[in-house]
Amino acid sequence: MSVAPDKTLTLQDRFWRELPEMAVRWQAEVPPDPQLLVLNEPLAADLGLDAAWLRSADGLRFLAGNLVPAGAVPVAQAYSGHQFGGFVPRLGDGRALLLGECVDRHGCLRDIHLKGSGPTPFARGGDGLAVVGPMLREYVVSEAMHALGVPTGRALAVLGTGRRVERDGQLLPGALLVRVASSHLRVGSFHYAFQLTSATGDLKPLRRLANHAIARHYPRAAESQRPYLALFKAVVEAQASLVARWMLVGFVHGVMNTDNMTISGETIDYGPCAFMEAYDRETVFSSIDFWGRYAYGNQPAIAEWNLARFAEALLPLLADPASGDPDEAITLAEQAFGGFQQYRADWSSGLRAKLGLSEDVETDVVTSLFDELQLLLTESRVDYTSFFRHLGQAARGGAEPARGMFVDLARFDEWLSRWLALGPDAESMDRVNPIYIPRNHLVEEALTAATAGDLDPVNKLLEAVTDPYNERAGFERYASPAPADFGSYRTFCGT
Ligand code: AMP
Ligand code: MG
Repeated sequence: MSVAPDKTLTLQDRFWRELPEMAVRWQAEVPPDPQLLVLNEPLAADLGLDAAWLRSADGLRFLAGNLVPAGAVPVAQAYSGHQFGGFVPRLGDGRALLLGECVDRHGCLRDIHLKGSGPTPFARGGDGLAVVGPMLREYVVSEAMHALGVPTGRALAVLGTGRRVERDGQLLPGALLVRVASSHLRVGSFHYAFQLTSATGDLKPLRRLANHAIARHYPRAAESQRPYLALFKAVVEAQASLVARWMLVGFVHGVMNTDNMTISGETIDYGPCAFMEAYDRETVFSSIDFWGRYAYGNQPAIAEWNLARFAEALLPLLADPASGDPDEAITLAEQAFGGFQQYRADWSSGLRAKLGLSEDVETDVVTSLFDELQLLLTESRVDYTSFFRHLGQAARGGAEPARGMFVDLARFDEWLSRWLALGPDAESMDRVNPIYIPRNHLVEEALTAATAGDLDPVNKLLEAVTDPYNERAGFERYASPAPADFGSYRTFCGT
């Protein structure tokens, strides 16, 4: 079927127009033999893009960044970043491009962004490319996170490029991810602008970036007496809520560098991420995270650290030149940070929901119940996700599946009776405790098959994880943790 080019397709070039000093105009490479591997039709519809057209030859050229729509100016974005704590002044999109911004069906501006589109001036010796496995991992995990209600960038499509790409001495099939986010502004973007400002003494680049962020994400901050302080507070709250949601679903991001932390509060840059199975706060999957800096249980503290770095970059805008007090900005930022209270509030209300407890149960009771549960979960290496589903069954009177997960049964029984006495609601538990998450062994199995050309396992996995709360026949293996012989799971980033 031949489909006429979508002449209505336009993109904006707002980032490029408003922040030209933070972007380099660039073109995507032309892949030798582009093939559509997966297309997210519901997301395409949300963006007002015609799925049939996206599947056509012109649609593929658009997705690969080779057919540039009216109004678009593709750019590589510049940003800095603290990588594992060390500051790198110039990172930027080494293998990514912002094609432009599109207005979605709800009137919101969304970035259309490519990953694996060829080396840019920020490639720092990298090949600028990507391969099928990691691009499909980002697709699967980000769509699972979206279905779990966690704010996240989304995946529109993965294309095979027809190019072979060398990774660790192996030639692997090349791929390109088309992703969508409410923006790709990062904490590291502010550090980049801060450096421009420090170098010249001119506050304009930093101010323009802050105004751009306010307009895109926190327009109410513009009405505040102190718009930049309001911006800081809004980002703290968004990130606190985000990390609380990660913790509640057992997600380990794996590389929480400041260049991977958004201003919008969406999850981006799915590299060495994975979901925890056996409950253990020290869970680390990334092969390069030797010291466990980004372990599951460290994520809230790392978010705080990253937000403190964000405050540093914003300080020149927070200070009131009229006050003459250089410490004032720091005091204001500390007050706005508020001890990261938002994190504790979101975590405990999410915990309350996971345990099916009503508002009548005091927060202290909820958190102390979980404190004790944590010890039991850790000691028995209990699978975090299936435990909460089994606990829902226990609220209906069927405690055996949950009891069967513990070594110290007497202590669990004691915990169980205290919890049951609080009258948990099984129905509401099943609405917040997923049955299907991207299980590490099934993700690996699906990515290995896809790399060899078989997309069926990826499609079936996507079917499971994009409807995570609804138990269905035929998806039993998607509800169980990895078999014991799967071993300790390692993920690799930047591939
Ligand atoms: P990430 O760990 O994916 O957040 O990437 C960190 C930095 O390395 C970013 O500046 C990326 O653009 C860059 N990068 C990662 N992989 C490549 C690659 N294959 N080629 C060029 N740049 C890359
Ligand atoms: Mg990154």
